[in-house]
Amino acid sequence: MASIQLRQVKKTFGPVNVIQGIDLHINDGEFVVFVGPSGCGKSTLLRLIAGLEQVSAGYILIDGNDVTHAPPYDRGLSMVFQSYALYPHMSVYDNIAFSLRTQGMDKGSIARRVDEAARMLQLGDYLDRKPKALSGGQRQRVAIGRAVVRNPSAFLFDEPLSNLDAALRADTRLEIARLHKQLGSTMVYVTHDQTEAMTLADRIVVLQGGRIMQANTPYDLYERPDNTFVAEFIGSPK
Ligand code: ADP
Ligand code: MG
Repeated sequence: MASIQLRQVKKTFGPVNVIQGIDLHINDGEFVVFVGPSGCGKSTLLRLIAGLEQVSAGYILIDGNDVTHAPPYDRGLSMVFQSYALYPHMSVYDNIAFSLRTQGMDKGSIARRVDEAARMLQLGDYLDRKPKALSGGQRQRVAIGRAVVRNPSAFLFDEPLSNLDAALRADTRLEIARLHKQLGSTMVYVTHDQTEAMTLADRIVVLQGGRIMQANTPYDLYERPDNTFVAEFIGSPK
């Protein structure tokens, strides 16, 4: 588990200020959801935390350690994307085991970890299948399983449900909520879907134009929006 701190984080792409000075402290074990309209900087902020992009200014700390310039694999985080990015020629088992093998973990430990993750995500019956023989929801659960076996100190999700149809989306959302309860891990989750945000989040961060408009519990955001942008985005009666 880990706390994640952003201090005056900025990101520019060429002349464009995409992230304009973000201060945020994500607590150990907290489920934080970034919401906001398309292009407001949600994915960029997540990729900065992951180390997939470098900040233009500011600092990122994980458990109090400065990781601003640390490469992704040194941050102890696992990221789950909207596109599952599974290896098509590998079985579910091998997809989940892949990162552990590249770390040189022994076979027995790998088997234990994969079995545990598969049980957690109800993939036990599918371990021999190839991704193309799975439903979209099952594929996304494999992608989540791949993140789980690495035993990360925090999970980063970028719109993990947006490729799924409505029924699968609801199921997989519950699966993620259950995982959070079970593991107690810090989770940072990007979505543009208010239902996902309201049901999953301990705290919602509303972004607009690369700035935080408000960060608060779902209840407080709904009942006490700071401004009309938040009120309209969350759909509260202000
Ligand atoms: P969101 O995830 O909220 O839809 P993004 O973080 O993907 O928004 O993008 C925020 C802004 O940054 C957009 O205007 C986007 O076009 C721009 N952007 C994102 N990545 C890059 C990049 N690699 N190069 C140039 N512009 C980018
Ligand atoms: Mg995005």
